[in-house]
Amino acid sequence: MSVRQLGFLLDTLPIAFVGHDDEGRVTLWNDAAERLLGWTRPQVLGQPSPLPQTLSRAQVPVMPAALRPTEVKRRDGTALDVITASMPIPGHEGSATAIWRPEALTLEDELKLRAMCDHAPEGIVVLSGEGVILEANRATGRLLGVEQASLIGRPFASIAADGARLRMPGPSEPARLSAEGVVVNRADGTTLVLDVLATPFASQRWVGFLRDVTASARTRSQLALYGRIFDASAEAILITDADNRIVTANPAFSAITGYTLGEVKGRNPRLLSSGRHDRQFYERLWQTLQRDGHWQGELWNRRKSGAVFPEWATFTVIRDEYGNITNYAAVFSDITSVKRSEEQISFLAQHDHLTGLPNRTLLLDRLSQALAVSERDGTSVALLLVDLDDFKTVNGSVGHHQGDETLRAVGERLMRLLRQSDTVARMGGDEFALLIPGLADARDSIQVVQKVLATVSAPMSIDEQEVTLSASVGVALAPQDGTSATALFRAADAALYSARAAGRGAWRYFTDELNLRAKERLSLVTALSHAVERNELRLHFQPQWDITGRRLLGAEALVRWQRGDDLWAPGRFVQTADESGLITSVGAWVLHESCRQAARWQLPIAVNVSVRQLEEADFVEIVGRALEASALSPSLLELEVTESVVMEQNEACVARLRRLRDLGVRIAMDDFGTGYSSLSQLKRLPLTRLKVDRAFVTELMTDAADRAVAEAVVTLGHALGLQVIAEGVEQEAQRVALERMGCDEVQGFLFGRPVEPTRFEPLIPKK
Ligand code: C2E
Ligand code: MG
Ligand code: MG
Repeated sequence: MSVRQLGFLLDTLPIAFVGHDDEGRVTLWNDAAERLLGWTRPQVLGQPSPLPQTLSRAQVPVMPAALRPTEVKRRDGTALDVITASMPIPGHEGSATAIWRPEALTLEDELKLRAMCDHAPEGIVVLSGEGVILEANRATGRLLGVEQASLIGRPFASIAADGARLRMPGPSEPARLSAEGVVVNRADGTTLVLDVLATPFASQRWVGFLRDVTASARTRSQLALYGRIFDASAEAILITDADNRIVTANPAFSAITGYTLGEVKGRNPRLLSSGRHDRQFYERLWQTLQRDGHWQGELWNRRKSGAVFPEWATFTVIRDEYGNITNYAAVFSDITSVKRSEEQISFLAQHDHLTGLPNRTLLLDRLSQALAVSERDGTSVALLLVDLDDFKTVNGSVGHHQGDETLRAVGERLMRLLRQSDTVARMGGDEFALLIPGLADARDSIQVVQKVLATVSAPMSIDEQEVTLSASVGVALAPQDGTSATALFRAADAALYSARAAGRGAWRYFTDELNLRAKERLSLVTALSHAVERNELRLHFQPQWDITGRRLLGAEALVRWQRGDDLWAPGRFVQTADESGLITSVGAWVLHESCRQAARWQLPIAVNVSVRQLEEADFVEIVGRALEASALSPSLLELEVTESVVMEQNEACVARLRRLRDLGVRIAMDDFGTGYSSLSQLKRLPLTRLKVDRAFVTELMTDAADRAVAEAVVTLGHALGLQVIAEGVEQEAQRVALERMGCDEVQGFLFGRPVEPTRFEPLIPKK
């Protein structure tokens, strides 16, 4: 009932009602009070009460138990005998006092009272002093779910499930019956919770008020339940407001993150972010959350300690009845241990337990990926199956434990051989597999095969026993031998089968052509590796002249390989030497031998140097040792490099050339005009000479374009302050043309072929 409704009803009553606050000031003064006591409402409201203090400050009900009249003073000073009842108002501050004349109420008054009671939304009952229901209003019947009339004559206590709570106070007890949370089992089986207040009202009568608090009781108990769940939950619960500021968090949140509620309250949950997810991740998360109302997934967050941990999280949007977002709730659990075992399981499932290498499953997986990439970028993939020869015998001779150790050692050796992107797997038993993706040329796999064979066959010591193994290798290449993982495995298996048939230490490609090439290459590399020690390398010298062809300026050293009766030109072996790394020892020999001749003849000698040599970290030292050993002045040594030095953007190579130039060594750009180096790149090199490539000289007389290039090279060289030499000059006409262009020097068959030192010597003018 609203205060206004109450005031209206009170005004119709024949009883004066006066309300007081805790300080005794008047808060309520109905019409009957105006009539009875003489003060109007404006005169008394908010003012100290004109009533005696016992009535205006009733902390406990003051009841007219004996109906003994009390004397009160009216405004005009006259005294009046009245009967009063005061009581604190349940749920409100202060108290209310009813004042009436002892004369019996008129019938009209009684009817008014009844009407008021009947329409009151609260249950109102009139009880006898023993607690028998004498009257009950409609609301009481409605509340208890029974006919209003059936209540009359029943003991009040019988309406409650626990009747003792509604027992009437005895004579020595305070005259008041107050019980909160009285449970009532209604006739229809539902349960009701009531707050009950009953006070003596008139002679031998009590009035009782019943208020339905079921809804709030239910909310309260539900809240209490939620609170217990919130506190006891093993999952962290975090609630933020509509602006995503943290409102509350449970103890599990603190346990997982290390933050207390006090530390995070009012802050954005961003303080937990690990930095492992990018902006797009969070943007997508928020999009899903706004669209679906929830998001679930794995998330990396950071604890207060700084440690990053994985969590399984559910975010939920909480909206009010109008659909406005009021809160966000996050529930998450720490899945560090789950993740760890997940990783362990997947590792175990994909790796071989003996060697720790990937197993067949993982290899197949990577092979499929590699094949997909190769299809996209046009590179080749090599699959090598490596089978240890006669491993059973090895195993038997050294014992089972050593056998395991041997397999582990082989695995480690193979691992060391490969690049990051390659995979070594153990297929089971004594069989390993190598996956080499991203090969620009399928033939590059030949080198890997040779390295594998060398690695496996190098002696190893297992438990202080020397073991020497060999392996058979089968190789298949994608795309030519197959483009699916299964096809490639089948091809490699077939290749391995024929390798095994060929005896220990053999290898086979799936295709004949590559088999042949690989074999040739291997024997070439083997032979070349012995060329230096067997003294099979020769140097030929080709003279270089001034443009008139009359004055000898120096010579270019050109390597040859004496193979029995055959003298091999560099075109047949320099590339292989380069690829196999043998160029290092060949090149060092050439440098030493060239320096020795140059010192002997006191003539400038040009030596060809490949990029691969320049890439050696100690190349400057190698040159230095050659100069020292022959006591040659550095200015008599010229190194010929090609445009690839600048084209490959190899800073270290350029730096090494500068150091050599600083020593006094001269640097020439060989075969100039065939590459694509730009003027700006050329300027980075410490050059002293440009060599016009033979191709332009050959066509000098027939091709206008070539002549233009040759002419441009001469001009360019001079612009850079360099000497320009033309190579491959075979005809006098070419020489004349070059002379007209301003070319400084010439080299070519017209003036002399590359020859052995004894035949070169006569060209050197006697001093
Ligand atoms: P390059 O440095 O351009 O050497 C010049 C090549 O042209 C030599 O071939 C030479 O014999 C040939 N030549 C010279 N004048 C004429 C001519 O008038 N007409 C024709 N048709 N050819 C002429 P060679 O000796 O076969 O050497 C080939 C290449 O091998 C050299 O080209 C050089 O790049 C490389 N090379 C030679 N010796 C070495 C070496 O010791 N180390 C390295 N890394 N490379 C070398
Ligand atoms: Mg050269
Ligand atoms: Mg050349």
